Amino acid sequence: MSEEELNPWAIAQQQFDQAAGLLQLEEPMRFFLREPMREFHVTFPVKMDDGNVRIFKGFRVQYNDARGPTKGGIRFHPEETIDTVRALAAWMTWKCAVVDIPLGGGKGGVICNPKEMSKTELERLSRGYIRALGHYIGPETDVPAPDVYTDAQVMAWMMDEYSIMTGYNVPGVITGKPLPLGGSAGRGDATARGGMYCIREAAKVLGIDLGTATIAIQGYGNAGQFAHKLIAEMFGSRVVAVSDSRGGIYNPEGLDFEATFAHRQATGVVKDFPGAQNISNAELLELDVDLLIPAALENQITAENAPRIKARIMAELANGPTTPEADEILFQDGVYVIPDFLCNAGGVTVSYFEQVQNAYDFYWKAEEVYERLDEKMTRAFHAVHEMAQKHGVHNRMAAYMVAVHRVAEAVRLRGWV
Ligand code: NAD
Repeated sequence: MSEEELNPWAIAQQQFDQAAGLLQLEEPMRFFLREPMREFHVTFPVKMDDGNVRIFKGFRVQYNDARGPTKGGIRFHPEETIDTVRALAAWMTWKCAVVDIPLGGGKGGVICNPKEMSKTELERLSRGYIRALGHYIGPETDVPAPDVYTDAQVMAWMMDEYSIMTGYNVPGVITGKPLPLGGSAGRGDATARGGMYCIREAAKVLGIDLGTATIAIQGYGNAGQFAHKLIAEMFGSRVVAVSDSRGGIYNPEGLDFEATFAHRQATGVVKDFPGAQNISNAELLELDVDLLIPAALENQITAENAPRIKARIMAELANGPTTPEADEILFQDGVYVIPDFLCNAGGVTVSYFEQVQNAYDFYWKAEEVYERLDEKMTRAFHAVHEMAQKHGVHNRMAAYMVAVHRVAEAVRLRGWV
């Protein structure tokens, strides 16, 4: 096994340093952009159902707000660390910049195990986190969203608690809300849909016919399932393999979305699907397909398995599925990677649309959301593709260069550095 660096914060800084070097950023700018501008560490009490009080720790990192209020999810996770939150906040900064929405990057987290908590305990935890941090967030400063183990219901409680603190209704303080509380149409499949627009453009520049292409998807949650559904609707390509944490399935003739989805609903897993062969997650990644879509976890493609990836396009719906060493190998081998913070930026883009609709108090139809999302993603894709061509670098580095350049420009124009 190679000894690769897998600490997300170390990886985020390493990637930034490389982009800053290529952009020849001046020293104070480099120092400023490689660290978060603000971090909050909070400790807060929550009354549990048995009458005892438990003390929880939470974080909120506001990485950089030169381009606008910081934006990013809140995670509830037993192994949450400040380093993970910092890395994710940095990536949010670059993600918002690459799709050119007027927002900075942030992230939050609470160390807790939501699987061991009742619904009422989760509500009190959500409200407690906002009471601890409410004075430091807001529609004009920092706007949270759902992430690992937080959902639309958690966002509703948090928005309500913030509104109680301010004394009036503030839907714009948080995105990913349920539709009746000011959520946006089209948010459910926005991440996968944004990825589809990138795949469409990548196929165009590479001359690949998506109508006859074969595709493998790792992960069958929000991102993976919607990817399967949208591929069928938009391209008619053959999805030949899908997987979840319990294993994968393969059928060279293609896997019908409705039938696969129904099987997973009925059995809780994708494996043992009639007519398909069971395969491991490792085998899925190395299939001879035109497109590979990692939509599960980080660090799935490493220096060890990267040389065996056969896909022509790898579209990263997951965050951080590829290690920096694997990136270099894929680049040498001619695999066209659509990097995570471009490929999965559809989610935050529609979150931004949600903020805009909240501010106007006027709501768009799903078709209007899709059209605006398409325009943002298509522009972002080509900005990155052109940067990669111009500098002879891989797409992830090009995406960093586009994003870091835009944030540095905002910092300079403000006269900060
Ligand atoms: P999810 O929890 O809904 O689904 C995750 C899926 O991955 C599940 O099907 C799970 O069974 C599967 N999985 C877990 N371990 C696996 C393994 N070892 N091999 C194969 N599959 C495995 O999560 P999601 O919202 O779909 O997010 C997936 C990825 O996409 C994450 O990296 C997330 O950060 C990223 N992402 C999601 C969104 C979004 O809007 N949902 C936005 C941006 C990025």
